[in-house]
Amino acid sequence: MPFFNEAKVLPDLLTAIQGLAKALMPRAIEVELLLVDDGSTDNGRGVLSDWLNSATPAYEIRLLRLSRNFGKEVALSAGVDAADGDALVLMDADLQHPVELVEDFVSGWIDEGYDVVFGYRLRHASESVGKRLFRSAFYMVVNRASDAAVEPHAGDFRLMSRRAYTALRQFPERERLMKGLYGLIGFRTKGVAYEPRARTAGTSKYSPLKLWAAGLDGITSFSVLPLRLTTFMGVALALLAFAYGVGTIVEKLVFGIHVPGYPTLIVIISTVGAGQLIGMGIVGEYVGKILVEVKRRPLYIVESDEQLQGVTGVVEKLTKRT
Ligand code: UDP
Ligand code: MG
Repeated sequence: MPFFNEAKVLPDLLTAIQGLAKALMPRAIEVELLLVDDGSTDNGRGVLSDWLNSATPAYEIRLLRLSRNFGKEVALSAGVDAADGDALVLMDADLQHPVELVEDFVSGWIDEGYDVVFGYRLRHASESVGKRLFRSAFYMVVNRASDAAVEPHAGDFRLMSRRAYTALRQFPERERLMKGLYGLIGFRTKGVAYEPRARTAGTSKYSPLKLWAAGLDGITSFSVLPLRLTTFMGVALALLAFAYGVGTIVEKLVFGIHVPGYPTLIVIISTVGAGQLIGMGIVGEYVGKILVEVKRRPLYIVESDEQLQGVTGVVEKLTKRT
């Protein structure tokens, strides 16, 4: 569970996980909450300690702190790298992903034998029309453009078996869009519908501009379609220019019309110029990506890794009682 400045929701979250841990006990499943602090600057650590002083969690809590804010995708990757369970569940810390749904994920995994069980949004009451449109457009483009199937309404909320999340670790790219990577690992996969909740507290960390940047990154990370489109655009412009040239010659030779060409020239020059600039920009995006990849910088830096609460044995004790 990656979080960034979520001190306000952490107590509710820890309480919700308490319910989940208890619900999973009859199945003799031990829950460990692996929190990835993505460089929070609020007092999340203090809130965690306060909560631990006032409650006895029925699950283990491990806190992995990154040295600064690396962004959600990277924080998720840090969690996947650090995880060591028979299965791993990725979810947001703001309780927008209903915790109870994890029980359905678990039965999909254990009872039905799926390696990946993901939640897909039914609808989002609190989401603006703009965000919804943007989301649909993004998934449409990514799906058309890449070989990985990206589930339109699925996010990061999902369970992965050990072999599935181990497969995910093998993707070395720096520029990562987890939603695309999930599609690349394969395995038997099942979707479970849910209605996302409104945030219980705190604010969304994603501005429209950030979403736009993430959308573009997603497309260029998973597809070279824009490069190909540039070539098509060039060919289309060349054909138009050729047709226009032929037309002019015919006009001159057959009809003897002399056309003063100043406006035509300006239009053609600016069209071609614009096409070239767009093409260069697209190539530039990819060159930039290559630069980021070849530097091979570490994806994230871990500041600390602490076990806040160990409850080994709690499950055995409680299941014996029930
Ligand atoms: N998050 C993070 N690092 C960031 C931004 C967000 O770890 O740089 C976490 C955040 O704390 C939350 C999850 O990612 O647990 C989803 O973020 P948010 O709720 O802001 O996104 P939204 O639900 O509005 O799309
Ligand atoms: Mg959220």
